Amino acid sequence: MIRCVHCGTDNEEIFTYCLNCGKPLEQSMKGFKPRHASTARKGTCSLVTIRTDGGTGPEIPLVEGVNHAGRSGPEVVIADDPRVADQHATIDVGRDVVFLEDLGTRHGTFVRVTGQRNVADGDQIRIGHALFAIQLAIPRPQPSTDGAAWLGSAGTTGDWFGRLLRLGPGDAVIEAHLLRSPETTLGRTSGDILLPDDPFVSSRHASFAASGAGCMLKDLGSTNGCFLRIRGRVALEDGDFVLLGHHLFQFKRPVAS
Ligand SMILES: [Zn+2]
Repeated sequence: MIRCVHCGTDNEEIFTYCLNCGKPLEQSMKGFKPRHASTARKGTCSLVTIRTDGGTGPEIPLVEGVNHAGRSGPEVVIADDPRVADQHATIDVGRDVVFLEDLGTRHGTFVRVTGQRNVADGDQIRIGHALFAIQLAIPRPQPSTDGAAWLGSAGTTGDWFGRLLRLGPGDAVIEAHLLRSPETTLGRTSGDILLPDDPFVSSRHASFAASGAGCMLKDLGSTNGCFLRIRGRVALEDGDFVLLGHHLFQFKRPVAS
């Protein structure tokens, strides 16, 4: 299978284009290198710093080819953040495609979900101050021989397709919520899963629905968004938000002339 770097959908290797988003699967293959920029675009790509009040801060220009982001930079220097590694991520700027890649860091690199997208078992999501993991591969108990319910299964009957695990320090699971069909919603004041004490969570923030063997995560127009931890490489598009530690950036790419 080839996991599309644009939308996360797994495609059979016989396909050339992603069945979900239509983008070339060549860009998702390990050996694919973006072609370096010609003069077709005016200006350079950049990362715009987003301040904690939502306003924009300094704009960091990106060079053509590989940019290194982390505490030691040198192209994108992120200081004063214990969740950012010396060498945290790279941004590879090519002519047709720009790739963001996490360098196997402890705390990861996250990209804001626009609209909706497929998520898979083990994917991690940041919503407000909370970090969650999606758990879809859950072994189901065999029915008991006398028809009695298993102890501990109260409330778990019905149509559920996974769990949303809230992670604490050291990735310890501190809460677990069932994800039920047709959808499970999350919000500060309304929904099946509530985060009442987090001002960064919108009243109705996100929903989770079964989608084939996976799960469809949908942002319900929240103010601060849902951020998905990237696996390997993903393609960046103009306007995408990238979260490293607690530093938020918006990726800008000049339009082709
Ligand atoms: Zn796709």
